[in-house]
Amino acid sequence: MIPALGIAAFDAAGPLGPWRFERRTPGPRDVQIQILFCGICHSDLHTVRGEWGGITYPQVPGHEIVGRVVAVGPDVRKWRVGELVGVGCMVDSCRTCEPCQAGLEQYCTEGNTGTYGGVEKETGRPTQGGYSTTIVVTEDFVLRVPENLDPAAVAPLLCAGITTWSPLRHWKIGPGKRVGVVGIGGLGHMAVKLAAALGAEVTVLTSSASKVADARRLGAHDVIVAGDAAAMRAHRNTLDLIIDTVSAPHDIEAEMRLLRLDGTLCLVGVSPEAHPMPAAFTFIGKRRALAGSLIGGIAETQEMLDFCGAHGITADIERIAAADVNQAYERMLRSDVKYRFVIDLATLEAPAA
Ligand code: NAP
Ligand code: ZN
Ligand code: ZN
Repeated sequence: MIPALGIAAFDAAGPLGPWRFERRTPGPRDVQIQILFCGICHSDLHTVRGEWGGITYPQVPGHEIVGRVVAVGPDVRKWRVGELVGVGCMVDSCRTCEPCQAGLEQYCTEGNTGTYGGVEKETGRPTQGGYSTTIVVTEDFVLRVPENLDPAAVAPLLCAGITTWSPLRHWKIGPGKRVGVVGIGGLGHMAVKLAAALGAEVTVLTSSASKVADARRLGAHDVIVAGDAAAMRAHRNTLDLIIDTVSAPHDIEAEMRLLRLDGTLCLVGVSPEAHPMPAAFTFIGKRRALAGSLIGGIAETQEMLDFCGAHGITADIERIAAADVNQAYERMLRSDVKYRFVIDLATLEAPAA
């Protein structure tokens, strides 16, 4: 076993704090990574606070991991010691089912192995995430990080980036398409950057008037602040795809009316409670669709990282010390994130003995 240090939740209500634990000894096809940076995703907060159920404590969250390879098993072919790599939301899947064979490991029929909150196949123990000093991952679930990008600002691409990239690609977004992005947090700000880089015209819907200028800087052509009924009317029947990143229940009917014929509203935000269902005629009148999307596959994640490397795209981040994680969670709940917190793991200190 390999000693590791993490930032763990010990129960649903209390603060996170330092915790000593162990990683498995690398097997023949495993890669050991020294973690440099890990982003803070809203899913980390949902999970450790028990909002999604099924959690065992202590739990180290974190699935936006960037680090350096420090050891490889004897049969590893893809990675060498010293390479800059990433790990996202999954560390394994069955690899044989139809979705896995199609490169859609996130939809594995047996369930993918979450980077945290899952069960490690090799040991049967709970998986522990990236708010930690080191991680051991099977080589096929490790991603190549472009060396030309700031590694701290790359970390959020491993979840926020791929979760918005995947629907943009699935719904074939490019020049001539109009994309709406709802919520400018970690996911939303990446959706704006990626959709704009793919050549789409982007309209942002935000509940924060203070984010209008930032939304334009990120690449939005238009911004609608919640409550602006005239702007909502003016944008009716215009959008091909809306990516909704909001983490709380809200009025999706109003959003759906912005879709043109055959447009799709894709939920990526995970509200713990259901949204009120839009009226049937809102769908029928323009053959609109309501959909959802879960992160992205491994090959698609590499495609996104390579695209970001080629276009110089990273997240806008606030780099924080390990001791500031609890404060970051409180700010995230107030939608006060510009636009992703990233933990510098070099600042993680061992718990008092
Ligand atoms: P985040 O950084 O907290 O951003 C969420 C944004 O939604 C906020 O910045 C805010 O933007 C808006 N918002 C929040 N509460 C709201 C409310 N009550 N009413 C209206 N708007 C509100 O969160 P994130 O990390 O981007 O994650 C967003 C959601 O996606 C979470 O539920 C997370 O669990 C989920 N997620 C899903 C996947 C997937 O695979 N589908 C992957 C990762 C995360 P404005 O200030 O602009 O309104
Ligand atoms: Zn995430
Ligand atoms: Zn599978």
